[in-house]
Amino acid sequence: MNIALIAHDAKKELMIQFCIAYCGILSRHNLYATGTTGKVVAEATGLDITRFLSGTQGGDQQIASRIACNEIDLLLLFRDPLTAKMNEPNEATLLRLCDVHNIPVATNIATAEALIHSLARGDLDWREIVNPKKNSED
Ligand code: PGA
Repeated sequence: MNIALIAHDAKKELMIQFCIAYCGILSRHNLYATGTTGKVVAEATGLDITRFLSGTQGGDQQIASRIACNEIDLLLLFRDPLTAKMNEPNEATLLRLCDVHNIPVATNIATAEALIHSLARGDLDWREIVNPKKNSED
């Protein structure tokens, strides 16, 4: 499965801890991330992550374009709800596109935990039936 990771600055440490905790599960999938998120998670975990541009440079939109093509199977977007962000419209786009394609998405660690356990149990395997070509390298 193709999993996208995005963490706002205030949530990067949380994303690192999450990825350390679930490294074994995540390592069995194709990982994508915005620039800085990918860098810090890869450094902390050794996971192989395809990095896009940083969020401020358009990395969110690069992930959004893959979601628009239904190429992402799970989005973990750890967002900071307390800091007004310039890229809020980008988040709305990301979430809307996930709804367009029924892509499971978590915007906080509580939901991310539920989804990662679902992933490990095989509850999200229907994505591979819906999208067989996109996941052929798995
Ligand atoms: P970053 O981008 O991983 O490059 O910091 C995330 C974001 O959109 O804030």
